[in-house]
Amino acid sequence: MSDDLVATHVLEFPGGYTRTTGPVIGRFLTELRDRRLVGVRTAGGRVLVPPLEYDPDTGESATDEYVEVGPAGTVQAWAWVGSPRPGHPLDRPFAWALIRLDGADTALVHAVDAGSPKALRPGLRVRPRWRAATAGHITDIECFLPEVTSLIAPVRAEYRVTPGRALTRFLEGVRDGRFVGGRCAECAAVYVPYRESCPACGSVVEEEVEVADTGTVTTFAINNLPDPRAPEVPFVSAYVLLDGADTPMIALIGGVPAHEVRQGMRVRAVWVPPEERTLSMTNVKWFEPTGEPDADLDADLDEPPGGGA
Ligand SMILES: [Zn+2]
Repeated sequence: MSDDLVATHVLEFPGGYTRTTGPVIGRFLTELRDRRLVGVRTAGGRVLVPPLEYDPDTGESATDEYVEVGPAGTVQAWAWVGSPRPGHPLDRPFAWALIRLDGADTALVHAVDAGSPKALRPGLRVRPRWRAATAGHITDIECFLPEVTSLIAPVRAEYRVTPGRALTRFLEGVRDGRFVGGRCAECAAVYVPYRESCPACGSVVEEEVEVADTGTVTTFAINNLPDPRAPEVPFVSAYVLLDGADTPMIALIGGVPAHEVRQGMRVRAVWVPPEERTLSMTNVKWFEPTGEPDADLDADLDEPPGGGA
């Protein structure tokens, strides 16, 4: 019975529109023929779709401002039609749905070809499937279809690939016992690990540069909880500014008692033997002191990227 009620409502669309085609509905149907969906703005600023001559809330005349909406929209409610009858828009099970087109404040009734009632939910995104030939009729839209959400997958893949390439270059370098950075062509900053865009100026970083495996401790923390990678407890994790780099990288400090580690301490990477290396940062056991005099961090850090003042 409920199918009959909903079907009757929609079967009145063509007749109703034909009877009342004035400028407002006429505009809606003319736009439909051109495969555009429009609503009309009320004096209160709401957008009615399909457009009406009067604001149903206030009885005031609508404005003559037409607004293009959709074509996609959101399902608000639906009734599943398990056994379509002659005159229905589809010859397979479908849903009559209240669809609020993007930009509209009211919902339109139309068919949704969802395949199964399980595919329907409030908020489902749908788009119209237009007939090959349009005639200025609500049935110019054959039905609405759920949006293809699997499109998200390649977009996600795109994001995985981009950092992946830069990080892979960095890890290939680490496997070979060297640190690979990238130099920004615009501002000359050198980033280690290598990255493909400059966070300072937004430029693409294309130039690959090798930096030293020696550097300076800029900040550090003494850790009292065991870590499987650390030499002993307590151990020190630090930011090490590699010589030639403008950004520090985080690393373990070994080969020195924790309480002797200090800012400005000069350190060198301790690499695991070549035959044990993989594409990972575990190739660097830690950094240990070089024995050089401490660096003057204030002087070094005040220097602009790329040197020179
Ligand atoms: Zn830059």
